[in-house]
Amino acid sequence: MSHHRVLIIGSGPAGLTAAIYTARANLAPLIIEGEPSSTSDQPGGQLMLTTEVENFPGFPMGIMGPELMTNFRDQAMRFGAEFVTAKATNIDFSERPFKVWSHDTLYTADAIIVSTGAQSLMLGLPEEQYLLGHGLSTCATCDGFFFRNHEIIVVGGGDSAVEEATFLTKFASKVTMVHRRDTLRASKIMQDRAFANPKIEMHWNATVTALHGEDKLTGATLTDVNTGEQTLLPVTGLFVAIGHRPNTDLFKGVLDMEDSGYLITRPGSTYTNIDGVFACGDVQDHTYRQAVTAAGSGCMAAIDAERWLEH
Ligand code: NAP
Repeated sequence: MSHHRVLIIGSGPAGLTAAIYTARANLAPLIIEGEPSSTSDQPGGQLMLTTEVENFPGFPMGIMGPELMTNFRDQAMRFGAEFVTAKATNIDFSERPFKVWSHDTLYTADAIIVSTGAQSLMLGLPEEQYLLGHGLSTCATCDGFFFRNHEIIVVGGGDSAVEEATFLTKFASKVTMVHRRDTLRASKIMQDRAFANPKIEMHWNATVTALHGEDKLTGATLTDVNTGEQTLLPVTGLFVAIGHRPNTDLFKGVLDMEDSGYLITRPGSTYTNIDGVFACGDVQDHTYRQAVTAAGSGCMAAIDAERWLEH
């Protein structure tokens, strides 16, 4: 067991910014950063699964997501932040010091910052269980390279889907975007980029209703949402980019959350319903969900925790 002034759960832009600020305030934070093999708890958060980040201020030429997160982590370490590469598996916030377990190891802390982020939503098809990593992916950056000259599908109509589809045209011979409506949700500039890309074809008003292949993906059935007509596309890659779910299972019944699972923080602050427990980043934000807003709220959580500890 070890005791810490501040314990941070999660290591995306929010958690690592909180780590930088609390470390610089001499609070020697411990960060339980997640497990590398996991899709929901990977250290560095969702930016580890992304390609180029063009909208993080300070990088006029853009920066790759994983490189940005390595920079965040190095910056926190420079000021004495300590990392545990494992996930938090249990908590007890009913008394102080607060308790957090990672498997059999217990950590106690005076203040907690929750920054566990969000994870990719899946289509809910049974085939996803065995085809993930075998043609099916949620991460174009990680897996795009394996799809050189393949025909692939990207499911979704938001910024993530358009971004992934555009990135994947670097490798794939053809990318079909499958969207359940006839207009994209993505921002105009991203849409324009996709429509101008000769390798991207749009398949409107359709959902993916079956995946084919046993050891690896060989095709996908698309069903038209209006007519029910089915089309079989013989693709060997399919990227799911339909949004995210907050990683809050650990806090059910303990921290106040919305029906969707997003943690509730007191407006204008990072205070949760438990004094001394703060939340920042995507785990409490379904509106902005940007690296820069997550980092901003991580800074708020650090300052809130620091002031709360002083009092
Ligand atoms: P999103 O904006 O929630 O979009 C999800 C998309 O998936 C929507 O088009 C939705 O369809 C579709 N969808 C949801 N469930 C589905 C299902 N079961 N089957 C088929 N389609 C389904 O999620 P996101 O694209 O991941 O973006 C999340 C946030 O991050 C947004 O605020 C976005 O702007 C931001 N983001 C920004 C950038 C950037 O600026 N570089 C990059 C990525 C993400 P409907 O449209 O019909 O609802």
